[in-house]
Amino acid sequence: MTHASSDVRALYQEVILDHTKRPRNFRRLEDADRHAQGMNPLCGDRVEVFVKMNGDRIEEVTFTGAGCSISTASASLMTQILKGKTLEEARDLFEKFHDLVTGKIKDPDFQKKLGKLLVFSGVCEYPVRVKCATLPWHTLKAALEKAGEEPVTTE
Ligand code: ZN
Repeated sequence: MTHASSDVRALYQEVILDHTKRPRNFRRLEDADRHAQGMNPLCGDRVEVFVKMNGDRIEEVTFTGAGCSISTASASLMTQILKGKTLEEARDLFEKFHDLVTGKIKDPDFQKKLGKLLVFSGVCEYPVRVKCATLPWHTLKAALEKAGEEPVTTE
């Protein structure tokens, strides 16, 4: 490992720690028009995602729940990055994020598009944590697609 990459890694860990300690948008959204629950039985993570739409745009997105640092930080960063995005953009980000954490990046422009989500690039080295990182996104997708009232599970 070069010195530069360990610096990047330390920075990424700091960002994840910060979002774990002080999750952003961590609250119920009383006037949400969509919401869904998700769970990752493997780790015990639970998350509930609330979305308020304005036409095709995500006006507000929040979450509650309890989980490990990866799932909490992932949900926190997800809510930050999705605010103001269209459904199309949200779907695109979900795909890119999934590629990032599973180590299958195809889009050469992905770094620019993922922005802060790059802090999860190390997750692909830990297959069991992939489900922690993607749980909030799967739950969001269920909320956006209004996939019934059954909780989403990563299994
Ligand atoms: Zn977890």
